[in-house]
Amino acid sequence: MEQYKYVIVGNSAGGMAAARSIRKVDASGSILMLSDERYPAYSRPLIAKHLSEGKSVDRMRLAPPSFYDEMRIDVRLATKAVALDSAAHVLRTDDGNEILWEQLLLATGSTPVVPPVPGSERAGVFTFTTFDDAMRIAAHLPAVERAVIVGGGFIGLSAADALRKRKIDVTIVEMLPRVLAGMLDETASAMVEEAATDAGVRIMTGRRVESINSDSLTGRTVSSVTLDGGARLPCEIVIMAVGVRARTDLVDGIVDIDRGILVDEYMRTSVPDVYSCGDACKTHDYVRGSQGVIAVWPNAVAGGAVAGSNMAGAAQVYDGATTLNALPYFGLSIGSAGIVASPDDDIEDVARTERGCYRKVTLKHGVVVGMVFAGDTSKCGVIHALMKKKVPVGDFKESLVAEDFGLLSLPRELWQSQVTLEE
Ligand SMILES: Cc1cc2nc3c(=O)[nH]c(=O)nc-3n(C[C@H](O)[C@H](O)[C@H](O)COP(=O)(O)OP(=O)(O)OC[C@H]3O[C@@H](n4cnc5c(N)ncnc54)[C@H](O)[C@@H]3O)c2cc1C
Repeated sequence: MEQYKYVIVGNSAGGMAAARSIRKVDASGSILMLSDERYPAYSRPLIAKHLSEGKSVDRMRLAPPSFYDEMRIDVRLATKAVALDSAAHVLRTDDGNEILWEQLLLATGSTPVVPPVPGSERAGVFTFTTFDDAMRIAAHLPAVERAVIVGGGFIGLSAADALRKRKIDVTIVEMLPRVLAGMLDETASAMVEEAATDAGVRIMTGRRVESINSDSLTGRTVSSVTLDGGARLPCEIVIMAVGVRARTDLVDGIVDIDRGILVDEYMRTSVPDVYSCGDACKTHDYVRGSQGVIAVWPNAVAGGAVAGSNMAGAAQVYDGATTLNALPYFGLSIGSAGIVASPDDDIEDVARTERGCYRKVTLKHGVVVGMVFAGDTSKCGVIHALMKKKVPVGDFKESLVAEDFGLLSLPRELWQSQVTLEE
């Protein structure tokens, strides 16, 4: 049986950060990374660029081709971990191998949720979370004039933006009253909807896709969707983008799971020597004070780095993350973090709209707990740092949303310690 000191399942944001971190502590311990995808680690947020401009996976790589050799990491691509015996420390892969490990990391990420809509098995229905998804969609596009995107979250918006760049007629169908409802407030959602509409996207909020239909003789290929109320939208492609869920299939019934793998502050699961990070696990949300799946890239990287340190024996605590996004859609930059809309009496919003840019910072007891920026996100880094460090900002809160806000707007003692505030 093969033996490795460290086995990492998942070769993406979390897994790569963990591998780098292990190597900082342990220069020689053997490392194996497994991925059921066919490609060396790539930037998942960039897959839309394959759709819009044909960007290759090689140009999305997280590390140069020499990375794995230089770091003395064995990597096995297109290889799925299919069974875990945590007591015997053995992992089985779909090519029949059994691997003995000392420390195991579950950096298995997330998997797209596909709602049980009748017809979702038809040719022309896709999800959009991997480079292979982007390739399959791109290959289908020559037959496509009209697309329906189910879901107006950030994955749906990314797909819509990319398809518009390919001159496809796009409709987004969103069940909630507005797009990006999880990461923006009403004002910023409206700005995104306006930018999308100006770019030619039709947005239907408060609506549901009830079935995906085919008029073809074989009944295989998509030709329309039916919405609640009976309206039909003709289309040749449907992209399901209603969200993702933690990918835990490998360890169901083995480690404690509650909508995500449960980990402590050292990223340890309930089973000794088994760690997790990223989209697969629940993380401490330092703003909300609760545990939740925080499916964003920076959380996977930071949590993976901490997991790697601990696996290699250098104790490190993860102080948690919060929801955080900075994205451009249809030419409009948006940034958001933490609590973006709350009816809580203790919550105070400080907001300003100036020259087409919207800036809002949300405070609780004088400390930043959230932000929404649309049109200009250049100051999001500083606000995020103030938020993370829980700096009292009550005395200068108005300046945070001013157009000319910068480090020098902060009290002298703060900007003098600017090394601690990442711009
Ligand atoms: C279209 C899109 C756009 C996004 N844009 C942004 C953005 O702008 N900003 C942002 O912060 N976040 C964005 N995200 C989210 C971000 O990509 C994720 O939070 C991040 O990739 C999580 O990293 P991870 O390492 O936890 O998991 P993943 O990136 O999901 O990687 C997990 C890997 O493990 C593999 N794997 C799982 N199980 C097994 C197994 N049993 N055996 C072998 N391999 C396995 C998977 O195939 C996958 O390759 C976006 C996501 C998508 C889909």
